[in-house]
Amino acid sequence: MSFSFSLNATDGAARTGVISTPRGEIRTPAFMPVGTAATVKAMMPESVRQTGADILLGNTYHLMLRPSAERIDRLGGLHKFMNWERPILTDSGGFQVMSLASLRKLTERGVTFKSHIDGSKHEITPERSMEIQKLLGSDIVMAFDECPALPADRERIAESMRLSMRWAQRSRDAFGDRPGHALFGIQQGGLERDLREESAEALKEIGFEGYAVGGLAVGEGQEAMFGCLDYAPAQLPKDKPRYLMGVGKPDDIVGAVKRGIDMMDCVLPSRSGRTGQAWTRRGQVNMRNARHADDPRPLDEDCGCPACRNYSRAYLHHVVRSQEMIAGMLLTWHNLHYYQELMGDMRAAIAAGDFAGFETRFHALRAEGDIEPL
Ligand SMILES: [Zn+2]
Repeated sequence: MSFSFSLNATDGAARTGVISTPRGEIRTPAFMPVGTAATVKAMMPESVRQTGADILLGNTYHLMLRPSAERIDRLGGLHKFMNWERPILTDSGGFQVMSLASLRKLTERGVTFKSHIDGSKHEITPERSMEIQKLLGSDIVMAFDECPALPADRERIAESMRLSMRWAQRSRDAFGDRPGHALFGIQQGGLERDLREESAEALKEIGFEGYAVGGLAVGEGQEAMFGCLDYAPAQLPKDKPRYLMGVGKPDDIVGAVKRGIDMMDCVLPSRSGRTGQAWTRRGQVNMRNARHADDPRPLDEDCGCPACRNYSRAYLHHVVRSQEMIAGMLLTWHNLHYYQELMGDMRAAIAAGDFAGFETRFHALRAEGDIEPL
C-alpha cells in the first residue's frame, strides 16, 4: 500500500481530507501530539490514541542522541520501541540543533554540534538525517533544512532558504525509493512573499509527497504568521498535504486551518498540562488558582475525557498544588483530548460548509471566558 492524500471537502481555503499510509489513515486537518523522546510525556500510547490522535511526531535530534537511531533500529524501530503502531512523523533534527545544541557550525555540507546532554560531538547532513529517520522507521520523513530565527534581514533569509533548497534536493536523493513512506519538503523564506514563492517553486521542481510551511512560529507573532499564511499555502501544490510546523495555541490552529493548512504539531497541550494549565473551549484555565480549591464541578462539563468525567476542579487543583504525577497525567489527557476535539469540530464544519459559523462560535465562547466561580 502506498502513501496518498485525498481531499474530501473545502470551504474557502480550509480543507478536510485523509492521508492514507500502510500504518493507518490520518484525518485532516490533523493535530500531531509531540513524542519527543519516544513518549508523549505523562501519557500511555493507548491513551494518546483514545484522545483521537491518528499520528505522533518524534524528534530526530533527541532520539539520535539518546538512545540513538541505531539502537532503536536494532530493537525493531520506533513504532515497536514505543508501542505506537500508527503513523509517526519525524522532524529532520535541524530546528532542534539550532535551538538546543551548543558550538554549532553550519557549512554547505551540514551542521556539526555538541550534544546538550553530554557534550559529545555530532554531525547532521541531509544524508545523515535521511539515514536516521529511516533507522527510526518514520512514516513521514522531513527534509533537512535550516531555519533562521526571526527577525532576520532579507539577505540572511534568502541565503538560508537557498541553502535549504539545496539540502532539500540532497534529502530527496538520499531518501531513495521507499514505498509507503513519504518525504516532505519544507518551504522557507521568512515573511518575504517572493522568497516563499521561489522556495515553493524549487520544492515543486524536486517533487515531494507533502510540503511544510517552515520558519514560522519562531517569534514573529500571530498577526505576522497569519499574514504569511494568507499566501504561503496557496504557493504549494493543492493535491498534497500542507504541514505547519510547531503550531500552536488553539486560535493559531483555527487561523491556520482557515488558511489552508492540513497538519500541525505542538508541545503546548502536553507541556502546559504538566504545569497546571488547561486548554478548554472557554480559553486557558490555570488549575493552580485558589478559586478551584472548593469547586466540585468538572473542569469542562461537556468534555468526555477522564479528567473531566471522573474528577472535580477541586481534586485537579489539589494534585497540581501537591505536585502529584497524576496532575500532569490528567491535564495532559484533557488538553490532548480538547485539541483533538477541536480538529474534529473543524473537519465536520468544513465538510458541512460551515467553517465561518464554527469560527464565530469558537471565538464567542473563548470571549466569554471560564465559568463563574461558585
Ligand atoms: Zn476534559
